Amino acid sequence: MAHLGADVAAFVDGQLSEPATREALTHLQTCDDCAKAVRQQRLLKSRMSTVAAPEPPPGLMASLAGLAAAPPERDGWWVRVRRSVPFRAGVVLVSASVAVVMTAYAVGGADQRVGDEVAPPFNQYAADFFGSTAVPAGHVIEDATMTKLDGSGWPCLATLGGDLHRVSGAFADHQEVVALSYSNGRSKLNLFEQNGALDRDSIKDFEPAEMGGSDVWVRDGEPMVVTWDDDGVVYTIVTDADRARVEQAVSQLPRSTHHDSPPERVRDGLDRMTAWLDAA
Ligand SMILES: [Zn+2]
Repeated sequence: MAHLGADVAAFVDGQLSEPATREALTHLQTCDDCAKAVRQQRLLKSRMSTVAAPEPPPGLMASLAGLAAAPPERDGWWVRVRRSVPFRAGVVLVSASVAVVMTAYAVGGADQRVGDEVAPPFNQYAADFFGSTAVPAGHVIEDATMTKLDGSGWPCLATLGGDLHRVSGAFADHQEVVALSYSNGRSKLNLFEQNGALDRDSIKDFEPAEMGGSDVWVRDGEPMVVTWDDDGVVYTIVTDADRARVEQAVSQLPRSTHHDSPPERVRDGLDRMTAWLDAA
C-alpha cells in the first residue's frame, strides 16, 4: 500500500473503511514516516480536545492579540508561536486553531486545571514494575531526543533521587506517554509523563501527601505509586526506592505553582507541545 498521506487524520479518527484500516495498520508496521505522522496527529488531537474548556476570560483574546502586536520584548514569544506547531510539525492547522491552543494554556488560571482528565493505568504500571522490561514496550526515545524533551517541559533528567540513573526511555501507550526507567542497581523507579489533568476518580485509593514540597497522591505498597499533575501534565512514579529518594525525585519534577502569567503559560505550553510533536 502507498503512504497514508491525506488519510492520516481519517485513520486516527477511525473513519477509514475496515479494509482500508487493515491496510493502513499493515503499512504502519513498516513505514516510520507514516507512523510518525499518525503519532503527531494523535497528540495534536489529544491536545486540541483539551480546549472544549471554558469560555476565555473577557479581554483575553484581545490581550493576546495585543501581545502579538507588541514590539521587541515580546517579539521572541510571537515569533516562536508562529514557528510552532502548524509551521514546523507539518500538520495542517488553521490560525484559528492556534488561537484556541493558546487560549487553552492561557485560561488555565489558579483554579483551573489544564487538559483532559486522564487516569493513568496504575495497576498496570505496578504489575509491569517487576516484569522483565524496564518500561512498557514502546517507541524508544534516543538520548538526544530526551535532552530536547527535557528542555521543553517533559523532564527526562539523567539522575533522580540522588543515585537513580536513567536507564531507558520510551513513548508508550499509543505514543502518548513518556515512560522513563531509573535504577541504582538495587532500587528501581519508573516515571510516566502524559498530557492531561489527573482524573480524581482514579485515585480514590490514594492518600494525599506532601513530598519534596509538592502536593501529591500516594499509594503505599510494593511498588509504591506516587502521582500528581502540574499544568497539563500528569506525572506518575512507580518505585521500590526508599521514601527519601522518592521525595528527592518528586522535588526535582514540576509541581503545581500556577504563578505564571498567561503569556508565560502560553509560551511554555507551546514549547512543550512543539517539542513533543517534533520528537514523537
Ligand atoms: Zn508510509
